[in-house]
Amino acid sequence: MNDSSTTEIRRQVLTLSPQSWLLGAGYLTLYLLLDWASYVQPLRHTSITPWNPNTGVVMALLLTRGWRWAPLVTLGIFVGELLTDDAPAPWWVRALASGYLALVYTLAAWGLRRRGLGRPIGTPKAAAWFAGVTAAASGVAAAGYVAMLVSAGVLNSSEAWTSVGRYWIGEFNGIIALTPVLLLGVGRAVRWDDMLRHRRELMLQALGAVFGVALAFALAAARDVRLFYPLFAPVTWVALRHGVPGAMISVSLVQAALVAALEFTPGSIPLFDVQFPLLSLGVTALFLGALATQRDSTLRQMRQQDAALQRSMRFAVAGQLASALTHELNQPMTALLSYVRSAELMTEPPARADERLSGTLRKAGEEAGRAAAVLRRLREFYRGEGARLEPTDALSVCTRVAEALRDRMRRSAVEFKLRRAGMPSVMADRTQLEIVMHNLLTNCLDAFDALPATGSRSRRIEVTAEARGADVLIGIDDSGPGIAANLTERLFEPFVTSKISGMGLGLSLSRSFLRSQGGDLWSEPSRLGGARFVIRLATRVTPQTSM
Ligand code: ADP
Repeated sequence: MNDSSTTEIRRQVLTLSPQSWLLGAGYLTLYLLLDWASYVQPLRHTSITPWNPNTGVVMALLLTRGWRWAPLVTLGIFVGELLTDDAPAPWWVRALASGYLALVYTLAAWGLRRRGLGRPIGTPKAAAWFAGVTAAASGVAAAGYVAMLVSAGVLNSSEAWTSVGRYWIGEFNGIIALTPVLLLGVGRAVRWDDMLRHRRELMLQALGAVFGVALAFALAAARDVRLFYPLFAPVTWVALRHGVPGAMISVSLVQAALVAALEFTPGSIPLFDVQFPLLSLGVTALFLGALATQRDSTLRQMRQQDAALQRSMRFAVAGQLASALTHELNQPMTALLSYVRSAELMTEPPARADERLSGTLRKAGEEAGRAAAVLRRLREFYRGEGARLEPTDALSVCTRVAEALRDRMRRSAVEFKLRRAGMPSVMADRTQLEIVMHNLLTNCLDAFDALPATGSRSRRIEVTAEARGADVLIGIDDSGPGIAANLTERLFEPFVTSKISGMGLGLSLSRSFLRSQGGDLWSEPSRLGGARFVIRLATRVTPQTSM
């Protein structure tokens, strides 16, 4: 290796993040601990033992982190060989064997990762790929490892086939039980709260497993009877109830308990004799667990779809209701409007009525006219009629809405600011845009009203605009409390509200309006400290007319 590549490797190692160092140290500790604990009843002077959970840790690391961790895996295997084995193999044979084992498992993990299996197993298909690839990899690992020991003279060639078989099953057993458990750490796959909800059942399942292990062990120790079937009942029960997490946690515990019981009882059956029952238990639990996990996630999806359907049905019903209401209210509204107009006429000179009365009647007339227009547009929208786009001065729409809300703003001590710069003409349905602005500004005021009156916070609403390509973004910022954390994800869904008398339709309707105009509406945190809603609409350059 030349100087520059050594420097490069040193640089890469030194620039590793603290988390990587921690993970590496944790991995090595766990690997060596398990290697040491499971180094029981080895085949003469080799590291061929009946059960290798440490290889389960190797696969978990390579599956979640990728091939870059292969050097650490090699180092772990090599140190494990040096520390735990009493094999007389020279160090270079151990080094070669460690490199070989790491290479085989790295390739297997690389293949599985390419199929997206670097995460918790959740379907029978994923379980089949995982079991198939690890069975093949542990077979290849066992054959190569034994071949190296035979050529180094550590093993007789007459022992080769038995050794390959035993090493193979030991490795496969360790991976199939422990790797799925370690993979559960990725993406919060375990629903502990679900598990703990069935506490009594969990206790019975644990009792069943303890009984199964005790029976298997007692019969093996006292009468030399190999009876492992009782272990299947509790593990199957757990797998069907709790899916892959429950299944593989229980298999790992049962494996460890049985190996420990048999190891510490002098004169009981050899551990190699339990390799096959343990493997069958692992494979059965993995497939049953995967089936149960898939069933649970399908049920969960169906429940979510059902909830979404219910919501859209409620929305449709609300639409019908709105349509009926607008139809019924339209006539009295028109009548009200003409009465107000007549009253206005009556207050004109020469009646010399109070000027305030005529001013109030004018405002009442404007509001009634606006309400009638809103009702009409709502009715058209719910009937599925499209928006009427026209070049619209968004600024004047906003000013008009703010004017209508001026009294409320004054009562709530809110300072309203409209920045005029950068507010070009947009292509919009004027009435719909007015409804949207009205919704957004009243939401800001509602948010201020929900705050304690004595708060030291300044109460500000600011409307700004900026051109973005062919669009204009209109931002409505407030210095209120901001969007409640539990609402952010579902803010634009119908019937989502934090107000006692709220309907939760304002934002969803506003977004539907804007999207039907080719625009959009979203929310983000505001630089004023509260909420910010952004309206996106298309602009259109008004053609210049020459005089
Ligand atoms: P409603 O006003 O009937 O509750 P909306 O769809 O208009 O229905 O609003 C949904 C929810 O979004 C409100 O209940 C409120 O919790 C939240 N929200 C909307 N705008 C703001 C804002 N400016 N500040 C804080 N929360 C807001």
